[in-house]
Amino acid sequence: MPKIKCRNCKKELIYDCISDIPTFPFCCERCKLIDLGSWLDEERRIEEPITDDKAE
Ligand SMILES: [Zn+2]
Repeated sequence: MPKIKCRNCKKELIYDCISDIPTFPFCCERCKLIDLGSWLDEERRIEEPITDDKAE
């Protein structure tokens, strides 16, 4: 059976079919949200808007 490691916590997941893991490639919804959250955080840091609203 194929195995993957959760991208967040590295827990090993064994599955028959990818559709067995609705949260693939994570072990659970929590890990998925944590990973997504940190990714969005990175994005936000990169795309920090340069607020130039004082131009008047
Ligand atoms: Zn996990």
